[in-house]
Amino acid sequence: MARRHSTDVLVVGAGPVGLMTALALVRKDVNVTIVDQEDRSAVHGYALALHSRSLTKLAELGAAEELVRAGQRIDTVAYYSAKERMAAVDLSALNVQLPFALALPQSVLEDVLRRQLKEAGVKIQFGRRLARMKVQSKTVETTIDRLDRVSGGYPIASSHRMVVGSSDLDARYVVGADGHHSLVRRQSGIQIRQSGNPVMFAVFEFLCDPEAPHEMRVQVSGEGVSGRWPLQKGRCRVSFELGDSAKFRRRRAERRLVRQVGPEVFPYLEEARLAELIQKRAPWFQAPIGQVLWSIGVRFERRLASSLGEGRVWIAGDAAHIMPPLGMHSMNLGLIEAVQLAGAIAESLQAGEPREALGRYERKRLNEARQLHRPERSFEARANADLWVQTNLPSIVSTLPATDSDLTALLDQLNCERLPTQMGDIA
Ligand SMILES: Cc1cc2nc3c(=O)[nH]c(=O)nc-3n(C[C@H](O)[C@H](O)[C@H](O)COP(=O)(O)OP(=O)(O)OC[C@H]3O[C@@H](n4cnc5c(N)ncnc54)[C@H](O)[C@@H]3O)c2cc1C
Repeated sequence: MARRHSTDVLVVGAGPVGLMTALALVRKDVNVTIVDQEDRSAVHGYALALHSRSLTKLAELGAAEELVRAGQRIDTVAYYSAKERMAAVDLSALNVQLPFALALPQSVLEDVLRRQLKEAGVKIQFGRRLARMKVQSKTVETTIDRLDRVSGGYPIASSHRMVVGSSDLDARYVVGADGHHSLVRRQSGIQIRQSGNPVMFAVFEFLCDPEAPHEMRVQVSGEGVSGRWPLQKGRCRVSFELGDSAKFRRRRAERRLVRQVGPEVFPYLEEARLAELIQKRAPWFQAPIGQVLWSIGVRFERRLASSLGEGRVWIAGDAAHIMPPLGMHSMNLGLIEAVQLAGAIAESLQAGEPREALGRYERKRLNEARQLHRPERSFEARANADLWVQTNLPSIVSTLPATDSDLTALLDQLNCERLPTQMGDIA
């Protein structure tokens, strides 16, 4: 019979949130096992900005210095309507250690976290998939499948991944940082409910020497929001909300708009389309557009889990919430969750049983995510706020790169505030 292995914490998923959870646990001297079903981590730089709060947490874990060197510092966020600048928010006024957002590819963040884990003696187990789990009073019994690439096929060679073995692992706690389709969430019976209509975005990354290279710019129009992030190495990313998802479904059926990231540019999202969108949706963008490096059409859902877990099994990151991209909320909420959850688990391990800190983790983090999912119910403009700000507050909240008290402080600059907490279901 195969030997059962054991660990204090099993982290499922080596995306940014799983890596951050593992690092935060290791820094608290907790024994951790981290598995990911893929052969390796993300190669594409999807999410591209760290909030000031995430940077502060990364600094506490000893991982910020390298990132700050690799990223593009963003000091202000400016809001436009057509060519007119309607409002601006100064991130450098935040009373924190690193008062700026940092634009950098998700893959760079993951590289740095992986290296930090390696230096701390943690080996990420790629090609390992959580297959099932069973919660007992003192442990969670899990089965981990080992996946490998198997080649075959004649006369046409092919390769696919299949289960080549499995092992049993007992963990005192399990963290599901296993993304949108989270098995940990599903096996825990946690619902993930729609909190709004999905939105379609066209995203372009291209060579460009933009004006105001430390400013994120957001355009709010009747067609939706668009945003520009200046990046390092003479690059820029712009994202345009493309209206209702019905249109997207039609286009996808025509096979013209599908997910694509890579050196080639998707035909529907080529340079001419970019120029057209910029002219219409970001007329303040004056810099010459260089080579388009990649483009993608991507549908972002708005979903939020009904709970973040209980007892010995918890979830964080995209496993718990997904939302549109401009404010970079999905990933950054996940990074904060990672650190708070790691602290609560470390405390519980020391006490020998799940502690109230885990309940606090759920209440605080779920509440913040709920407020971001429903900005129109959770934030308010004061009477002295500019009329444009009053009208567009939900769009401002969902695109400002900040959460928690940092978000409240930034909104205060626009004479807006957070309403007292209203707990309740998202549905
Ligand atoms: C095209 C695109 C653009 C995006 N742009 C933005 C943006 O601009 N701003 C923003 O904030 N976010 C953006 N996102 C979202 C961002 O990438 C996610 O919020 C972020 O990756 C979430 O991290 P995570 O660690 O929670 O989950 P993930 O990155 O999804 O990682 C989950 C990991 O779990 C692993 N896994 C899953 N199931 C199992 C299992 N059973 N066993 C073992 N391993 C498992 C997966 O292989 C994966 O590596 C974008 C996403 C896409 C696809």
